[in-house]
Amino acid sequence: MFYKDLLETISFQEESIMLRRRDFLKLVVKGAIMGNFCQLITPPLAEAVAAGEIKKLPVVMIEAGSCTGDSISLDNIWTPTFSDILSNIADWRYDCSMNQVQGMDAYQILQDTYAKIPNDYVLIVQGSMVRRDSGHYNHVAYDKGQLITGLELVRRIGLKAKYVVAIGSCAAFGGPVSGYPNPSLSTGVQNILPERRVINVSGCPAHPDWIMGTLLHLALYGEPELEKFGRPKLFYGETVHNRCPRRRDYDQGIFATDIGQKECLFRVGCKGPVTYADCPIRRWNDRLNWPIGCNTPCIGCTEPGFPDLMEPFTSHLPDIPFPGGVKVATDSIGLGVLGLTSAAIAGHAVSSLYKGRIQRNLLHSTVKRHHRPTLKKVKVSHQYKLKKSPNCEE
Ligand code: SF4
Repeated sequence: MFYKDLLETISFQEESIMLRRRDFLKLVVKGAIMGNFCQLITPPLAEAVAAGEIKKLPVVMIEAGSCTGDSISLDNIWTPTFSDILSNIADWRYDCSMNQVQGMDAYQILQDTYAKIPNDYVLIVQGSMVRRDSGHYNHVAYDKGQLITGLELVRRIGLKAKYVVAIGSCAAFGGPVSGYPNPSLSTGVQNILPERRVINVSGCPAHPDWIMGTLLHLALYGEPELEKFGRPKLFYGETVHNRCPRRRDYDQGIFATDIGQKECLFRVGCKGPVTYADCPIRRWNDRLNWPIGCNTPCIGCTEPGFPDLMEPFTSHLPDIPFPGGVKVATDSIGLGVLGLTSAAIAGHAVSSLYKGRIQRNLLHSTVKRHHRPTLKKVKVSHQYKLKKSPNCEE
């Protein structure tokens, strides 16, 4: 009944089964809060595919330096099931975790996709690009007696793809695989494909809705609007902090002193104020729960520079300069959000102090960090460049 009510508010394009884009965007949020948005979108999309209005999206997935976490996360999509999506929406051609065939037979499918439908398929990359010794610490295929590196295969297949989507923080920004001191010289996909734009669906792992929602947008409307780090704004447009149910505690200065408590987790290291993701409304494991709902701090896994710039996960840096030279303890700041977020949090802190809401304990909440590499060293091990998009926000 609930889904019926929701669907009645959604309009379809005249004489077509396809959703209007603005209704799709509505479903992304409403479907996250109240139900599974993929479940809502899949039936009309499957009908549109069956009616020939759109064609199944050809997809190939290459896994490079990774733990396969994003495949496992994607498998965890509940309603519809992953197999529903494969049957009705996507033409999932090659994926080393899911291939039914093995070895040369599987590799041949990848080669055929590349050769026969250039500029028509989506390349999904999972895992970071291992660059040390020309990528030879990460072999992903074997062809005519030659071992093929992830670096080489992603470049070759990526240059002829219609869209390149990097899923997970390793593929998007280097992630844990590129952690300091980064002996494998690992990096994100955009750094090895500077000629073209890469859509970053970050997260450790990426949420299945973020992956599937991005693919659905590509199938129905083309490239989604991206924010400054190449992430779709529909999923990464707001901070965790802005939508957090414990925000009132933060504003009132009511803080947990230990992990496991019910209050705002800012003092025990929560990185929600500098982390862009919609986890508070979407939640995880079929919307069952999410880290802050389990009384553990957000660790900022969707941000560039994760994990180094977010570590230690249970303490803060005294990052925010305050009028009069005082520094307010806050989260460690992601590479890109440093300026803006610092200003926003400082502004918020000033107004809260003025109103007397932030308690004394906030000003003394910094837990000193030990054995942390310098920011400069961390930045060097997480270097990345981003390809500007015409619809990418500055
Ligand atoms: Fe929620 Fe963390 Fe912000 Fe507190 S600091 S309100 S727990 S996101």
